Amino acid sequence: MKMETVAPFKEIIDVIKANGGDAFKFCYQCGLCDVVCPWNRVRTFSMRKLIREATFGLTEIESDDIWRCTTCGRCPQQCPRGVKQIESGVALRRIATEYGVFPATAKPVKTIVASLTAEGNPLNEERKNRASWAEGLSVKPFTEGMEILYFPGCYLSYDPRLKKVARATVNILNKAGVNFGILGTKENCCGESIRKTGDEELFKRLAKENIKTFIDSGVKRILVSSPHCYHTFKNEYPEFMVKFDIVHITQFLFELINSGRLKFTKEYVKKVAYHDPCYLGRHNSIYDEPRAVLQKIPGLILKELPEFRKASLCCGGGGGRIWMETVKGERFSELRLDQAIGEGAEELVTACPYCIAMFEDSRIVMNYDEKIQIKDITEIVQEVI
Ligand code: SF4
Ligand code: SF4
Repeated sequence: MKMETVAPFKEIIDVIKANGGDAFKFCYQCGLCDVVCPWNRVRTFSMRKLIREATFGLTEIESDDIWRCTTCGRCPQQCPRGVKQIESGVALRRIATEYGVFPATAKPVKTIVASLTAEGNPLNEERKNRASWAEGLSVKPFTEGMEILYFPGCYLSYDPRLKKVARATVNILNKAGVNFGILGTKENCCGESIRKTGDEELFKRLAKENIKTFIDSGVKRILVSSPHCYHTFKNEYPEFMVKFDIVHITQFLFELINSGRLKFTKEYVKKVAYHDPCYLGRHNSIYDEPRAVLQKIPGLILKELPEFRKASLCCGGGGGRIWMETVKGERFSELRLDQAIGEGAEELVTACPYCIAMFEDSRIVMNYDEKIQIKDITEIVQEVI
């Protein structure tokens, strides 16, 4: 479906404007976005071209290209004209979603929408099992007056690999004497990634349900494991005229260590490379706390990857790409594993469920089981307290 008639032409431009992407008209086609975009490390892809076509209302809505952007945040950082490429790209996906036009790559999004609508998670899991990761641990339901709500999010609640991260987090919180609780089956997906696929209506529904639960439960401070939950709670939920105190686990660990509530009692003699997740680093400027925590661990040697902090290389899982198939040889996570091994790291540590899922997958596909381990920061901290 090429958007050539007058109405869709207007529609593309209007939808982009309505989504805060109005700045696309300032694009002067310098191509700097394409220079930094990680896609051009593995295949050709041009955000510059997408912006150009959208300007004339000539976007091919059924093409794979509008689904490629991982919303990593690299190109908006570089753009000399302040073009909001992510907002423009999401606007194009909104049109595709509205028309129900999904190319083969983006088809899984339909199943995700059904799962989120019925069960509040994208993993086709039942809502009633949302707290099963906590079985056998000392975890209470959140009640008003508790110090903090722990919101593990969908992947830590259901994914077998990532449940270990939720459990490590709880062990740390208990060791530090934190008075916390969880929402269990009342917890919903935060909605961050489905919004980036263009399903604004579903995002709003999920967000409103979460906000109602937070308010009804008397929640003030929320601890999250996922930078995607962090981003949407902190920067997007205020669109609904609410404000909660959001803290990412890396910030909370830093706080617990500095206040003396958490002490390291063992050594961790390993070379560890830290990967900055896009939504923690570039989108929210949290670079120092995870490094400070790792640097305080006795014995640990912290390595920097070739592209780090603001220039971090995306894992490939943002913008809903976690749900789409990326062919082998085109996965950014494969490049990242090679970078970590190249730095002599024994472990690649990060603080995002999507990054861990992408890296673990590549580790298997690349036969790197012996070469490198993937860790969440909590899994290391749990071993030294
Ligand atoms: S960097 Fe900005 S101005 Fe340059 S081509 Fe990309 S969107 Fe256009
Ligand atoms: S946000 Fe990242 S993935 Fe998307 S076009 Fe820009 S550089 Fe590429």
